[in-house]
Amino acid sequence: MNLQETINASTKPFLIAGPCSVENPAQVLEVALALAEYGKIKMLRGGIWKPRTRPDSFEGVGVIGLPWLVEAGKEANLPVCTEIANKNHVEAALKAGVDVLWIGARTTVNPFAVQEIADALKGTSIPVMIKNPINPDLELWIGAFERLDKAGISDLTAIHRGFSVYNHPKYRNVPNWEIPIALCERMPNIPIICDPSHISGRRDLLLEVSQKGLDLNFDGLMIETHPNPDTAWSDAAQQLTPDNLFRLLEQLVQRSPSLDKYTEKELEEIRDKISVLDDRVFDLLSARMNMSVNAGELKMKHNITIFQQEHWAKMKNKRLNMADDYNLTPFFVQQMMDAIHQESIRHQTKVMNPKQDNSSDK
Ligand code: PEP
Ligand code: MN
Repeated sequence: MNLQETINASTKPFLIAGPCSVENPAQVLEVALALAEYGKIKMLRGGIWKPRTRPDSFEGVGVIGLPWLVEAGKEANLPVCTEIANKNHVEAALKAGVDVLWIGARTTVNPFAVQEIADALKGTSIPVMIKNPINPDLELWIGAFERLDKAGISDLTAIHRGFSVYNHPKYRNVPNWEIPIALCERMPNIPIICDPSHISGRRDLLLEVSQKGLDLNFDGLMIETHPNPDTAWSDAAQQLTPDNLFRLLEQLVQRSPSLDKYTEKELEEIRDKISVLDDRVFDLLSARMNMSVNAGELKMKHNITIFQQEHWAKMKNKRLNMADDYNLTPFFVQQMMDAIHQESIRHQTKVMNPKQDNSSDK
């Protein structure tokens, strides 16, 4: 199959579902048949080799599971995909007749491993999906696409699964949406699938993250689905039963990326108003920095430090306490105040040390 063409020709979102790990023939067949019955799922996923953080975790059933996955796909009339992490996996998956491969986040991070996979794939035309590396490094993700492309593997798709983070209160892997957005800008012809399961790490977040993916115009979703999620051998907390997956999908709103000309005009008018407001914001920021220069001149005259800890803490706390009144998050207010303060220090430093080049200071 040609995956890029299939995704582009399907109604959005292109849906991939199936268990985190293939456990036994009955489990994968049960989920495959349920997914097929629904009619909207376009591909069955199933992990055969699982790169796990700790050595005593379940690391996948291995080659023995490949025919279980392939057979389930045939029975359900769905193409199947699995993760490969080295050349042995590639050879076994190709031999077993897997339709699509994906490179996992823990593999994309390693250029030698990606190169080994690219070399093993030379001469084939199998589609490959590349998950983002676990660390938020756009170039490393792009590098993996380049390695495959150089090996003649051109049917490539991206999967965004979030980025590793220590002890985050909400996500298992933080989405950093700006990175997949930047990938789409750099590689506009590569379709991109959102993997809400690994971003969320927990069921109750799946709807919100899936909707966000659609709102950002992702081409599809990959969601882990298990007949009995609580007993799953890997990623139990984030998997859904097929029925719950269908319920989630029914709640998603698919928005259109383009507008009819009336809506476009209406949006244009709102955007014009926003632009006028942005003009005011920047005029005010500029005036504010001129005032900082005045403060810098006075501080220089009296030979006092630019930074006055107590005064700054007072100013910042005042705005943080008003975050709710402004209808802004404390996080945003904090970032805004820090940015204004840094820029103000830069202006004052220029007054005090005119020879110092601080034009690129942050
Ligand atoms: C998976 O898809 O089950 C998986 C292990 O994904 P990731 O590489 O995103 O961690
Ligand atoms: Mn998983």
